[in-house]
Amino acid sequence: MAGLLDISNPEPASPAVIAPPLWLLVELTYRCPLHCVFCYNPTQHARLQEEMTTAQWVDVMRQARALGAAQLGFSGGEPLLREDLEELVQEARHLGFYTNLITSGVGFTEARARRLKDAGLDHIQLSFQDSTRELNDFLSSTKTFDLKQRVARLIKQHDWPMVLNCVLHRHNLPHVDKIIEMALALDAEFLELANTQYYGWAWVNRDQLMPTHEQLIEAEAVVNRYREQINNRCRILFVVPDYFEERPKACMNGWGSVFLAIAPDGVALPCHNARNLPGLQLPRVQDQSLAEIWTRSNAFNAYRGEDWMQAPCRDCDERKKDFGGCRCQAFQITGDATNADPVCSKSPHHEKVIQLVKQAPVMREQPIIFRTDAASRLLHPEL
Ligand code: SF4
Ligand code: SF4
Repeated sequence: MAGLLDISNPEPASPAVIAPPLWLLVELTYRCPLHCVFCYNPTQHARLQEEMTTAQWVDVMRQARALGAAQLGFSGGEPLLREDLEELVQEARHLGFYTNLITSGVGFTEARARRLKDAGLDHIQLSFQDSTRELNDFLSSTKTFDLKQRVARLIKQHDWPMVLNCVLHRHNLPHVDKIIEMALALDAEFLELANTQYYGWAWVNRDQLMPTHEQLIEAEAVVNRYREQINNRCRILFVVPDYFEERPKACMNGWGSVFLAIAPDGVALPCHNARNLPGLQLPRVQDQSLAEIWTRSNAFNAYRGEDWMQAPCRDCDERKKDFGGCRCQAFQITGDATNADPVCSKSPHHEKVIQLVKQAPVMREQPIIFRTDAASRLLHPEL
């Protein structure tokens, strides 16, 4: 196929030179009670209903730990929908992982908090959609704002370090000060203000979510003012949307470098969105050992290192800094995953990103699409 990387017979990298995956993310389920318009799950989630068993997850964790993984995130969908979560956390703790639960809060009750504490869970990241009930509940198409407030208090009562996470976009950027105040009131140790990255459902809704330059500049100034005032009381991470930058993010710190995600159905992914890249033969943990997948599979070697790069990345002195940016973004916008991430001003496709930002305000009449099973099936009739 024109423009696609031929990885039908790649040279497997030598296991001796491949560093271990330090950060294991297990996406236990794609099921979720919320319907976020920027959800990072694949838009085909409703067609991907298979979930691995407890024993299969335990096996994955053991193998990953043996490979050298140190940090383990339990994610989803909503991982609390899995009734074996406590058992998995306990096993992870036993294996010596530092464990992190990434949750919307739905299903986090006093009883489960106690069980997760007993199991040895180290850390919790709780997502909010906004500081106001109206917008939080609108963006997730649920009535969960008050529940999230209760869950945040429960997390602190049980003495967990807590990250509040809020995805930012044009609807809630003007509320950044209120979101910070909410994090302070809830005693969060960290606040992650993650400007929307346009994958999954956020890509579908990009015209609705894209902020203006002015909104971003103003929000960053607010964040900096608060940082000065509050010192280390709550550390605020402000993740700038890379569409507004001249250089791409160092995506995943390099493909197949430190990050390994396992999807609910056992597919191993070098990044959350790798399912959407054409030509990758994504391996499943049911079929191969994790060591084999990490070191020798086509998918994990496809964009590892620099051999796959073409101009301008191939000859660029910044390639060790950003690894050519994001492969998924390169494919999504240019049609070729081996291109430089078009966010980069050196990319011959950079103008396409500028146009995406420019055209968003005139496209906003389109309806916003919530992450629902029905919408997922409609978007993917082919599956
Ligand atoms: S982004 Fe929203 S809908 Fe998607 S998994 Fe998280 S809470 Fe669920
Ligand atoms: S040309 Fe490639 S390596 Fe160089 S800065 Fe741009 S994306 Fe990074």
